[in-house]
Amino acid sequence: MESYLMKKLDVGVDFDDVLMDFNGALCLFHNSRYGTTLSRSDIKSYFLEKTWGCSREEAVKRVSDFYWSVEHDTALPVTRAVEVLQSLQESVSFTIVTSRPESVSTQTLNWLNKYFSGLFEEVRFTSHFFHEEGLMTKGEVCREIGIKFFIDDAPFHIDDVASEVETALLFDTPWNQEHNSTFPNVSRVQSWSEILTVLKN
Ligand SMILES: [Mg+2]
Repeated sequence: MESYLMKKLDVGVDFDDVLMDFNGALCLFHNSRYGTTLSRSDIKSYFLEKTWGCSREEAVKRVSDFYWSVEHDTALPVTRAVEVLQSLQESVSFTIVTSRPESVSTQTLNWLNKYFSGLFEEVRFTSHFFHEEGLMTKGEVCREIGIKFFIDDAPFHIDDVASEVETALLFDTPWNQEHNSTFPNVSRVQSWSEILTVLKN
């Protein structure tokens, strides 16, 4: 009898606010450093300067400081992300594609290895807010790897990957409620439980 190995489905997954509760931890950091009383539900835009009432440059600086904080290192995973990646291990190959800069790869990988060890192929850093030369967009990374499904919470990135993948899943958050993608292959998912259902079919 002929036997063959079924090729795993290539799925790309964003890191912040899809695997790590980034904005939840960032609020704790921001409250302690800047005297605010923010929680995740107060963040209504992907661009944090709108919530913080500061310049883009200042927001990028605060996020850069956050990467080196205890709040970053003690951030929790997004609900059910670990279990779902575990349960799909046999059929799905996960690649993490993040807009973080490579300069924070150490703390990113340390955090990942605490919760998602052995559950992903590699991490690609695209450095969206840091304008490093020669780096690819998330869409270009998807094309290179042959990603079929991509999961992201950022309106900008979901539209960027939509033209390169079969299905782009916008992870529902308070800061992407206004986004109605013009790409027909973008759909909104509420949770990792819903992602599990989509990827199993
Ligand atoms: Mg994100």
